[in-house]
Amino acid sequence: MIPFLSLKDINQQHAEELKKVTNEVIDSGWYLFGERLATFEKNLAEFIGSEHAIGVANGLDALRLILKAYIELNVMQAGDEIIVPANTYIASALAISDNQLKPVFVEPDPNTFNIDINKIEAAITAKTKAIMMVHLYGQACWSEKLSDIANKHNLKIIEDNAQAIGAEWKGRKTGALGDAAGFSFYPGKNMGALADAGAVTTNDEELANMVRTLGNYGSTKKYVHDYKGLNSRLNEMQAAILDVKLKYIDQENQKRREVANGYLTGINNSKIKLPKITTKSALTAFNHVWHLFVVRVANREQFQQYMTDNGIQTLIHYPISLHKQKAYSEFKHLSFPISEEIQQEIVSLPISPVLEMEDVKVISKVINSF
Ligand SMILES: *Cc1c(COP(=O)(O)O)cnc(C)c1O
Repeated sequence: MIPFLSLKDINQQHAEELKKVTNEVIDSGWYLFGERLATFEKNLAEFIGSEHAIGVANGLDALRLILKAYIELNVMQAGDEIIVPANTYIASALAISDNQLKPVFVEPDPNTFNIDINKIEAAITAKTKAIMMVHLYGQACWSEKLSDIANKHNLKIIEDNAQAIGAEWKGRKTGALGDAAGFSFYPGKNMGALADAGAVTTNDEELANMVRTLGNYGSTKKYVHDYKGLNSRLNEMQAAILDVKLKYIDQENQKRREVANGYLTGINNSKIKLPKITTKSALTAFNHVWHLFVVRVANREQFQQYMTDNGIQTLIHYPISLHKQKAYSEFKHLSFPISEEIQQEIVSLPISPVLEMEDVKVISKVINSF
C-alpha cells in the first residue's frame, strides 16, 4: 500500500533534532511568548524576505487576523468585499466571512488551478477592498498585471500562502509579494508543525503590530485591552519544531519537485491530464513547491477505485465548490462552470519529500495501464 502521505516518515527524518529541541522546551519552564518564538519569527521573516513575521495559532487565524487588523486600522469595514478564488480551501473564505466581510468568488484558470487574473477586474465593485491570492497546490500565482489592478483600484493584496512556503515568483518568495500573507503549519502542509500553527508576514509595521496585539487578546500591556482580540498564539514547542523544519524546507521542496518531475515524465496516458509547468523541467520550476500533485481524469470514480485496487491512495482537493457548500448556502444560486468542472475531475496523487522515486515509477506505471 502506498499511502497518500506519511507524516510519521516525514517527521522521522528529523526525529533526533525534534526530540532534542522539544526536551529543551520542556526543561525551560517557559511555554508561550519566549525566545523560541522570537527566533522562529526572525528566521521566518528572513527566509521569506519580509520585514515582520508573527506566529499565530493556525493558518485560518493568520488570515482572520490580517483582515481583523485592517478593520481596526480603518482600511476596511463590515460589508466590504474581498475577491477570492472559487476553488480554494474553505479557510480562505471563512477568514473573510468571519470578519463580516463578503467573499466574492472568481473562477480559476483550468491549466494552473489558480485564480484567473484576467477575470479579477470584472469582479471589482466600489466595495472591493482586497484580493486574496491563494497559491493553490503550491504554485505561485502572481503577475505584474495583478499589481497594476491592485494599484489602480487601491486594493490590498493578501496572500494565502498556506500551501506554498518556499515558492518564488521572479526570485521573490510568496509571502513577500503582497501587502500581507497568511501561512499554515498544519502537520500535512509542506512545512508542518506537530500540531496546529500559523504565521503572518508583512512589510507593514502598523499592520504587524496590530496583528500581534489582536492575537494576544487585543492587549499590548498585560490586563490592558485596547481591542476585542483573540487568543491566537504560536507556542514555544511548535516554534522550536518549526525552526528545525525551516532549515530543511528548500531541500524538501526540491524533493517534491523530483517527485513531480517523475510523474510528469513517467505518466503517459491520454485519459490523464497532467498539470502544466512554466519551465522545461519541474526540477527548475521554482514557482512551484508541489504541496499537491493534481491531475484531471474524466472518469474519476473509476480511476480512484482502480488506484485503490492497485494499493495506491488518492484524495480529492477539494470535492465541493465553496458556493455549493451548505455553509455558504447564500451563494448557492451563483454559477462557476470552470470551478465546477474542475471539481468533478481533479485527483491528487501521493507526493511528499519522503516518497521513494521507485514508488513514483510504480504509480506512473499503474496509471499508464488505466
Ligand atoms: C490549510 C489551509 C488553510 C488553513 O490553515 P489551517 O492551519 O488549517 O487553519 C488556509 N488556506 C489554505 C489554502 C489551506 O490549504
